[in-house]
Amino acid sequence: MLNLKQIISCIKNILLPPICCSCNTHILLQHSLCKSCWSDIDFISEGVCIMCGGQSKSYLQPYCSNYCMFAFSKLNTQNKFITAKAITLYSGIIKNLIFKLKYSDNLNIAPFFSKLLNQLYIKQELHADLIVPIPMHIKSIIQKQYNHTEILASHFARYIKIPYSTKSIIKIRATEKQGLLSRAKRLTNLSGAFKIYDASLIKNKNLILLDDVITTSSTMRECVKVLLKSGAKSIHVLAIAKTI
Ligand SMILES: [Zn+2]
Ligand SMILES: [Zn+2]
Repeated sequence: MLNLKQIISCIKNILLPPICCSCNTHILLQHSLCKSCWSDIDFISEGVCIMCGGQSKSYLQPYCSNYCMFAFSKLNTQNKFITAKAITLYSGIIKNLIFKLKYSDNLNIAPFFSKLLNQLYIKQELHADLIVPIPMHIKSIIQKQYNHTEILASHFARYIKIPYSTKSIIKIRATEKQGLLSRAKRLTNLSGAFKIYDASLIKNKNLILLDDVITTSSTMRECVKVLLKSGAKSIHVLAIAKTI
């Protein structure tokens, strides 16, 4: 005997048959990919750099580079920044899907990414109190009309049944894209760009800091610094992808 949720899901599937988030082929499950698109994903396997979430050279090495080893020791002075994990490499279909979520108002992709994040959350045996999406500057939100990481956080929060907050940390200064800057400019570009808005939301809480793509990891590091300074108990960074 089907319960109400299953009946609603059956009716939904008849009225709106599930299609692949990437190529629109008909599939069996909502918010998923077809077999061919799945096979295009470069999942990050064993040996993830705990600093940037990228692939390290072997599963025995916790860092992908000396730079990440140094950055981790700087950030983790009180053993509160635990680790960063990305699910896939930023390539192929995942790169296209993130682009669609970010710039084409294609918000249907968020539930699919949330499913992947949920699998990672379970596999890592994480137990967080709050999800904090990487904030965007108000100017960018007005321009785009939404913060895609916040949309992602709202779906992910429903999966893992914990709240998410956009009021704990905010971006108070618009910044240039880190990837486009010289090394010298990158070091100062994000300094003071983020500020805690309501510290009571994060004090003594185990946080998931959520990002779509980890590129240079500077944004994530800056947010971690600010959140730890304001009393967060621990921080795990989760992201969909890591640039190669
Ligand atoms: Zn497909
Ligand atoms: Zn690394």
